[in-house]
Amino acid sequence: MFSSQQISDSLWAGVSPPRAAAPALKGRADTDVAVIGGGFSGLSTALHLARAGHAVTLLEGRSIGFGGSGRNNGQVIPTMTAAEPDAIEERFGEAGERFVGLVRDSASYLFDTVRIEGIDCEGEQTGWFQPAHRESRMKLSEARVNAWAKRGAPVRLLDRGEASRVIGSDRWHGGMYNPTGGHINPLALARGLASACETKGVVIHEASPVETVDRRGGKWHLKTRDGELVARAAMLATNAYTGFLAGGLAPKVARSLVPVLSWQMATTPLSAEQREVVVPGREAVSDTHGDLHFFRFDKRNRLVTGGALAIGYNGPERLKAIVGRRLQEAFPVLGRPEFDFVWNGYIGMTEDRFPFVSQLGPDFWCWAGCNGRGVGLSVSLGRELAAAISGMPEEELALPMSDPRPIPLHSLIKTLAPTAMLPLYRWRDGRD
Ligand SMILES: Cc1cc2nc3c(=O)[nH]c(=O)nc-3n(C[C@H](O)[C@H](O)[C@H](O)COP(=O)(O)OP(=O)(O)OC[C@H]3O[C@@H](n4cnc5c(N)ncnc54)[C@H](O)[C@@H]3O)c2cc1C
Repeated sequence: MFSSQQISDSLWAGVSPPRAAAPALKGRADTDVAVIGGGFSGLSTALHLARAGHAVTLLEGRSIGFGGSGRNNGQVIPTMTAAEPDAIEERFGEAGERFVGLVRDSASYLFDTVRIEGIDCEGEQTGWFQPAHRESRMKLSEARVNAWAKRGAPVRLLDRGEASRVIGSDRWHGGMYNPTGGHINPLALARGLASACETKGVVIHEASPVETVDRRGGKWHLKTRDGELVARAAMLATNAYTGFLAGGLAPKVARSLVPVLSWQMATTPLSAEQREVVVPGREAVSDTHGDLHFFRFDKRNRLVTGGALAIGYNGPERLKAIVGRRLQEAFPVLGRPEFDFVWNGYIGMTEDRFPFVSQLGPDFWCWAGCNGRGVGLSVSLGRELAAAISGMPEEELALPMSDPRPIPLHSLIKTLAPTAMLPLYRWRDGRD
């Protein structure tokens, strides 16, 4: 089911503080809230529920951080990829306004959580920069800066000269800068959140894929191979990986997502001279390309970057050539960069590029569909979903509620879309 590139191939697997595996669920157990999935969403929900005094059990199918949370680029970005604040508010009214506020504050909230819980995850709140890859995209950057500034985000529009100083390259044309963003080691963050959960009494079981969820006698019954967890409330936090480990789990949610493989890569550590030129302020950078160009430093001064492929054949070698050339063109000081790590993971795309936050039944919550931008978002949504599970009234929640939106001909679209969409993005990227 998974591509040959496993999480163990990632840079993060090699450099994160180790974690002793939690035992699998065996036999019957009872809890107040059951959380399915040990990524940022599930862990943050569990953490906030435990802080509020709830008994929580989290079931992870493989290991903590096995999904997108342990494999991503670690850019902490306080915006969505495609959904703009005006559109969110128009669609969801006051809940949309509260959600826009959640997104605006999501990067700071993540870094605050890291500080409060004392998590060692190489966090650097150095800012996030979204440079415009064509002169014409400066209009988009300007519109975004205006929209977020109107809602109190500390964003700035940088001109071409400023962009060139931030990035260390004159390939880009200016763009939107937000000082609250930055980057983290994502697997270390997932493991750190898991430890914080356990310290507060959350019971974690790994290697425990949930096969089915049924409601009987007013409770949720979660079945794993060797056990059953019975809970008052439940949270489905399997995101792009819904249906990967157990085909029968939440098929409507799985059919609403197209899992798209995103490739990540890490160079050999850069020299001090190279670092004086390339992103000298160590910001997280991801630009306006649809076929995204992105990079950030890790603690060992590797550039962590990546790219997309329409066809996965011989992926690592082809990417080394494509992304190596791209970096060399932007930063001649790098020469042709060498890559020590190439890995990948699935991003959950939705048809309308907007996530869904849903109630799948009484006290059964879910969100999915980050569309590539969920590091900050999932930690903040975890807080909000924990509040919902604790009984906070809907009119106070920053949750844009909607049902999962199953995609017609899902099996076909799931197979074809990733291959078909990339050429379209590239075509659009080259036009004004
Ligand atoms: C390669 C890549 C790069 C990315 N880069 C960025 C970035 O730089 N910035 C950004 O903001 N976002 C990025 N994202 C998106 C971000 O990683 C995700 O939005 C975020 O991690 C989602 O977290 P999650 O907890 O909701 O889901 P996940 O982390 O995917 O967790 C879901 C978990 O559910 C588990 N699971 C699945 N089925 C079952 C089952 N039946 N029973 C129990 N457990 C189950 C899985 O094993 C998995 O651990 C990237 C994603 C990828 C894949």
